[in-house]
Amino acid sequence: MAASHYRSNLRDIHFNLFEVFGTGDSLGRGPFAELDAATVRDILSEAERLAVGPVAASYAESDCNPPVYDPATCSVSMPDAFKASYQAYMAAEWWRLDIPAALGGTGAPRALWWSIAELIQGAQAPVFMFGSGPGMAGLLWRLGTPAQRRVAQIMIERRWGATMVLTEPDAGSDVGAGTTKATAQPDGSWHIQGVKRFITSGEHDLEENIVHFVLARPDGAAPGTKGLSMFAVPKHRSVPAFEGDVAAQEICRPFYSRPLLRSSAGHRLLDVLGRAHCRRLHRPVRCSTLLPALDEFFAG
Ligand SMILES: Cc1cc2nc3c(=O)[nH]c(=O)nc-3n(C[C@H](O)[C@H](O)[C@H](O)COP(=O)(O)OP(=O)(O)OC[C@H]3O[C@@H](n4cnc5c(N)ncnc54)[C@H](O)[C@@H]3O)c2cc1C
Repeated sequence: MAASHYRSNLRDIHFNLFEVFGTGDSLGRGPFAELDAATVRDILSEAERLAVGPVAASYAESDCNPPVYDPATCSVSMPDAFKASYQAYMAAEWWRLDIPAALGGTGAPRALWWSIAELIQGAQAPVFMFGSGPGMAGLLWRLGTPAQRRVAQIMIERRWGATMVLTEPDAGSDVGAGTTKATAQPDGSWHIQGVKRFITSGEHDLEENIVHFVLARPDGAAPGTKGLSMFAVPKHRSVPAFEGDVAAQEICRPFYSRPLLRSSAGHRLLDVLGRAHCRRLHRPVRCSTLLPALDEFFAG
């Protein structure tokens, strides 16, 4: 086997986790009762093996053979070597450390998850980015209505991909300048109109579906960031495996949900993030001890 391009540094990760951030103090109790320091070290060793081996393996080849866009079908084919690295990462299921236990996740301190992220991103960052589906399903689970939570479960079961769709030609750093419009339809669905760009993993053939989490401004909403809502926009409205199935109907059906948590069906839109939830997301930042607060938020 060819030598890996990636030189990991597990000692540095151990140092940060156990000697700088005191992650060991939160293990063995509460939401992390199942984890002890030895297990965490084992997890990191396994993740390192995955990163240095199969994930890093396609780094050079993927660079030389980029994804191919077909304008006739608006579809993108990924190189086979990259697909193999991606599948190895997804099959190892370390991403379960990033999702709520109720969604099939493994309760873990955020610092442990981001340590694994460092290894995977160091080996081949796009694998981590294309593998963001479970993490985004976790977001939908934390913020969504019961029907939207079912979609989050399907995202995990079917391993759907996901993107974050914020940037526009005239709204980059200043995300609040976004002009993409969301118009409520009589049937409870939403139409989204605007131009987005720079969307990482926006289209690919790695999974059967991609759920795009799109920032848009509902008609009449305030200017700036305060007026933005987030909508989840599945690439495909229905998936053959779910044809006629309750789950598929949940995706297509309008979701008449609580205020500030709007949803959609007409354009496959599920609005998952209202302003109230933006505030929830920001709350930990104001805490004096950031790491425990983040752990508490993500464990909940
Ligand atoms: C590889 C890659 C992947 C990306 N993936 C995604 C994605 O998945 N989803 C998504 O939504 N977006 C994505 N983006 C877009 C990214 O978020 C934007 O590029 C970023 O927000 C900056 O916006 P911009 O490019 O319009 O630059 P601008 O905001 O126009 O900034 C241009 C320059 O001006 C500087 N600048 C801006 N504001 C100020 C200020 N107030 N004071 C001083 N200097 C300032 C910036 O530092 C920069 O040098 C991606 C970008 C890249 C390069």
